[in-house]
Amino acid sequence: MTNIVFVGLGFGGLYALRHFMDGAPDDVKVTAVDRRDRFVFTPLLYEYLASELDADVVAPSLSDLVPEGVDLRQAEVVDVAIEGGRVEFGDGTSLPFDALVLAPGSVPVYHGVPGAERNSFPFYSIDDAERLKAALQLRDWASGGLPVTVVGGGVVGIELAFALVDLVPGNGIRPEPPVVVLEAAPDILAGVTEPVRARARRKLDEQGIDIRTRVKVLEVEESAVLYEAEGQRQRLETVAVAWTAGIRPNPIVDKLPAERHGKHGVTVAPTLQLPAANNVFVVGDAIAYPGRPNGAAPLPDTAQAALQEAPICASNIKRLVDHGKRLREFRYDGMGEFLRTGRGEAIANIRGGVVDGAAAALARRAAYLLRMPAWAVRTAAVRQWLS
Ligand SMILES: Cc1cc2nc3c(=O)[nH]c(=O)nc-3n(C[C@H](O)[C@H](O)[C@H](O)COP(=O)(O)OP(=O)(O)OC[C@H]3O[C@@H](n4cnc5c(N)ncnc54)[C@H](O)[C@@H]3O)c2cc1C
Repeated sequence: MTNIVFVGLGFGGLYALRHFMDGAPDDVKVTAVDRRDRFVFTPLLYEYLASELDADVVAPSLSDLVPEGVDLRQAEVVDVAIEGGRVEFGDGTSLPFDALVLAPGSVPVYHGVPGAERNSFPFYSIDDAERLKAALQLRDWASGGLPVTVVGGGVVGIELAFALVDLVPGNGIRPEPPVVVLEAAPDILAGVTEPVRARARRKLDEQGIDIRTRVKVLEVEESAVLYEAEGQRQRLETVAVAWTAGIRPNPIVDKLPAERHGKHGVTVAPTLQLPAANNVFVVGDAIAYPGRPNGAAPLPDTAQAALQEAPICASNIKRLVDHGKRLREFRYDGMGEFLRTGRGEAIANIRGGVVDGAAAALARRAAYLLRMPAWAVRTAAVRQWLS
């Protein structure tokens, strides 16, 4: 019996597991491990924050998504012993593997900013969204006064700013900005194409969202952010601080014997195997896939990339178990970008064609419906979107 273990059941791990179980060889024992009991469809977390979709749609229970025949365990992996072929858990127990899929995703980084981890709200899970929403309700933010501050003007920070405005009665129109976004770079939305960025800037302006760029955050307090801009120290009083200023690969891949690409994850072969251990596959945010044409930069850390890696990873484990079969190589195909700008509104760039408003929101919803992990989740999403 071959022991196959999947660690991390997000976009990379869960979808690789499901592809693998579809026509899996008979003589394998499959164990799937995640520290959470839910899969989080992160691109829809804004809809959860804005009370547009329920938790069961955005984060369905893993026990409903993991195929029959898989031993599902909820546990925190603390280390991976490649040589001994064991995954080690926080309670001191371990699990042997013959082949391993590691897909533990990424974690927020706070860049050593004092108070940032303690006083700000990350935005990665249902619990994070719940905590942020509860803090805003407690401090009665929606009725006016101080803004919410979002640190980080990347895609997540900007979509979060738009979703926060959804919570304000009258769609955010009020004398003072409801949300302030602080971004260190000269512009927001790094990595996004210019036509999308230009439309987003216009929409941010319409919504009264205050964007401050070239800002260095110095300290985060519970109700204030200290930052430096144009050589001046500033203090921004705020109801809450949401932190979306960067991620790094999950620390459980830190000790893997592999090269890294800057802040990105471990380098894997085009077959998604770890070069130092061909029975270990790593997918998702935890890898820096170097196999793009002409030595291009590593892939962006996206669900889109993880979802495309999943079937190749699954097929390659089958080929590895079925000795002698040549493994497939992964090639990334960027399918487009979506930016949610409000309830029923988005900006979409699909293979170079850019649209916004309701048409873009429809395209975004259709793309996500297709990728949702179960029919029950899809029908519930449609019902809630239409209500
Ligand atoms: C708010 C938000 C919106 C986003 N929107 C988009 C978008 O619109 N489009 C897009 O392409 N990408 C988007 N992303 C990025 C996308 O979520 C990630 O790139 C994607 O989830 C990476 O997939 P993954 O499998 O590597 O990690 P994840 O999907 O994060 O899954 C990792 C899993 O590993 C588990 N895990 C972690 N550590 C351990 C451990 N020690 N032991 C056991 N289990 C562990 C976690 O619980 C989790 O289930 C968004 C991200 C966020 C935060």
